[in-house]
Amino acid sequence: MMVKNSIWKIFYILSIAAILLLVALLYFSYKEINERHCTQVEYYTQIVAKSIEADFMQKDMLLSIVGERLFREYSSNSNEKIQKIFALLLKHNPYLVSIGLADVNGQLLIASKNVEKKDINFMQSDNTRYDFQRSLSSSYMVVSKTYYFDSIDEWIIPLRKAIRDDDGNIIGVIVAGLKNSKNSNYLDELNLSKNKRIIILKDIDDRGDIYKLYYSQQEHSHKDLYEKPIKKEFLSRIKESFYSKYEYPIEELRETQKTVSFFLNNSLLGHNIAGLIYNKKYKLWISVGGDAQGIKKEFFKEASFHITMSILTFIILFILFRRVAASERKKDEELLHQIEHDTLTNLPNRIYMYQNIEKYKELHNDKYFILYLDLDNFKNINDKFGHITGDAILVEVANRLNIFFNKEDMIVRQGGDEFIVFVGNIDRQELEIKIQKLIVYISKIYHVKKRDFRAGVSIGISECPRDAQNIEELLSLADTAMYQAKKIRNSYCFFSEEMRTQNAFRADVEHELRGALEARELWMAYQPQINADETLCGVEALVRWQNKKLGLIPPDKFIYVAEESGLMKELGEFIIETSLREIKEVQKELNLTFNLSINISVVQLMEAGFLSTLLSAIAKENFNRSSLTLEITESLSIESLDDVLPILYDIQEHDIKISLDDFGTGYSSLSILRELPIDELKIDKSFIDKILYDESEKNLVDSIINIGKNFNMKTLAEGVESIEQIDLLRKSKCDVFQGYYYSKPLSKEDLIKYLKKDN
Ligand code: C2E
Ligand code: CA
Ligand code: CA
Repeated sequence: MMVKNSIWKIFYILSIAAILLLVALLYFSYKEINERHCTQVEYYTQIVAKSIEADFMQKDMLLSIVGERLFREYSSNSNEKIQKIFALLLKHNPYLVSIGLADVNGQLLIASKNVEKKDINFMQSDNTRYDFQRSLSSSYMVVSKTYYFDSIDEWIIPLRKAIRDDDGNIIGVIVAGLKNSKNSNYLDELNLSKNKRIIILKDIDDRGDIYKLYYSQQEHSHKDLYEKPIKKEFLSRIKESFYSKYEYPIEELRETQKTVSFFLNNSLLGHNIAGLIYNKKYKLWISVGGDAQGIKKEFFKEASFHITMSILTFIILFILFRRVAASERKKDEELLHQIEHDTLTNLPNRIYMYQNIEKYKELHNDKYFILYLDLDNFKNINDKFGHITGDAILVEVANRLNIFFNKEDMIVRQGGDEFIVFVGNIDRQELEIKIQKLIVYISKIYHVKKRDFRAGVSIGISECPRDAQNIEELLSLADTAMYQAKKIRNSYCFFSEEMRTQNAFRADVEHELRGALEARELWMAYQPQINADETLCGVEALVRWQNKKLGLIPPDKFIYVAEESGLMKELGEFIIETSLREIKEVQKELNLTFNLSINISVVQLMEAGFLSTLLSAIAKENFNRSSLTLEITESLSIESLDDVLPILYDIQEHDIKISLDDFGTGYSSLSILRELPIDELKIDKSFIDKILYDESEKNLVDSIINIGKNFNMKTLAEGVESIEQIDLLRKSKCDVFQGYYYSKPLSKEDLIKYLKKDN
């Protein structure tokens, strides 16, 4: 999950970076487009301004030359000649619509014939006075404000040029009008720039007004365009736009004559871009500009390209990341599966169990059973036929469990040949039936590598919440119940309260047992074994434990505890040493040789160095080895047959006898009997108990005795309590008898007394 998150984190970071990049890209492309358009418009403005200035200078020069000539003619009173020149001028300059001469006081002296009204004084009219005065103080031609010249019924751009004599004194002023009618303006003819809007403004006059001189786009009427000055608020808007870009007042342009450009929004022009330059000679503002909508369009085109590309990249990136995330998630899930599952059987393991137990409990309202399964005979198969076979059987067991249980049941491989199953939604009776079926199913033949195997199963069951709530406790209780079932094998056992007390007792036993040897609480008892001819055969050594807290504890209640808690080695050595020493002492005292049988648990037998310890104990007591028998319990010897067998042979080689204890209760087959180096069969008390009244049991004992005879083994009947039993067994040719009929297990002292009395 973590990997997945970090991948998406990278994706988000990349996305944010990409968005920022896009924004920057858009910003710079917007700036670049704007700047390009500004440079362009400034360039146009420069060209247009140059053309206009060149044209005005040409007119300026023309007026100077013509003016000098005309005033000379005027002073010589040759009006006719003047008119001729006027006519010639108008003819050759189609855009020159009127021409005349004025004196320094503004009085029109003479005008071209087309001017109807001749009595004009430029100094008297408010419209003309300022510019006329200006012409008197300027060495350049003065371009005046466009107006409707009613005498010739024409909109004109008036031109004034003062004419001076050689001393520089003004002789008079030549006045002329440039045609500025709709669709016919000499500036149109200059063909300055198509598609661009050219505006020429006359600089501020004595009233603080700025008038248009020329406006290239003629959609408005002349009256609207030229009659009124430009609105103050519009001017201040221009000033603001300019200032916001250049951060100095627009007025400075009058001196610097720089070409500038800026954007402005205007009800008349819309969103506009304008280049601007000031012409100092003729005091004109020249602006070339146009609709800025094109810029927007260009930007939107470019932006939509960038955005489309970005979206495409984003989509590709998203798909890519989703793929990566999906594969990472898959990897994660696989990894998690690996962690939470057993590699061999692919069943959930304990990690999975602990991860999912809460979910499971919730799902079943805390009502469920835990089945603790342990295969019987598995170790044997594993040891005998190898791990590959063992593994194949485990896989098949897992398979059968999967088939047998529902999806909601949780099957866990606990390890080795142990499995745990959580079963819910079922009552005790139903479960019992189910488990009986399961045992049959698991016990069915396993077919591996062309061989058939059988493996039983022992099942312990605990119930939540009846037995416990805590999962660990429930598992431990199921385990306890399983041990109980193991005693029978291929069976099941529900946990019971009795087991809990047993468990507590077991814990007490273990605790007390640790100090028992040192506290000298243990001692040995000896039970005589009597030959069929009533002579003494030997004694069986049986351990006894008298504890302060627990009282007298029978050996079958603490031997297994010693085995399970690692105390058996010490205990075993005590038993061997004590029995050998004491019996040797008895034999010496009574001058009698007889056999000693010592019980050896399989755990003890398999401990490293068992035989050498035994041999050195024998040597220490100088005990006759051929008078020693080791009793090994039949049931246990099966599972670990392969481990036990070499030790048994070793023991036999040292002239020590081996007796198979509790014979008949385990699983020994004849083939096993043949393999084992056994000297004696001890027929279990449970058979002896029944021989007097149960015919089949009697037959069984007979056949055991026969087997013993066939294999050249002694047979010993355990737990004989009556003479009738002995008579019957004697007839069946049983060799030795041991039981309360002869004697209970006796302390060393009592044994001496018993033996003395007997002899
Ligand atoms: P086991 O080896 O089968 O020992 C025989 C048990 O039967 C003894 O019980 C003995 O007291 C009892 N018994 C003998 N004759 C009669 C009879 O006529 N009637 C009745 N009711 N019982 C009789 P014990 O001493 O309690 O031993 C129980 C088991 O504990 C033994 O069974 C043996 O498996 C184990 N055990 C005892 N001492 C030792 C020991 O020193 N080492 C080991 N490893 N196990 C021992
Ligand atoms: Ca025994
Ligand atoms: Ca026995």
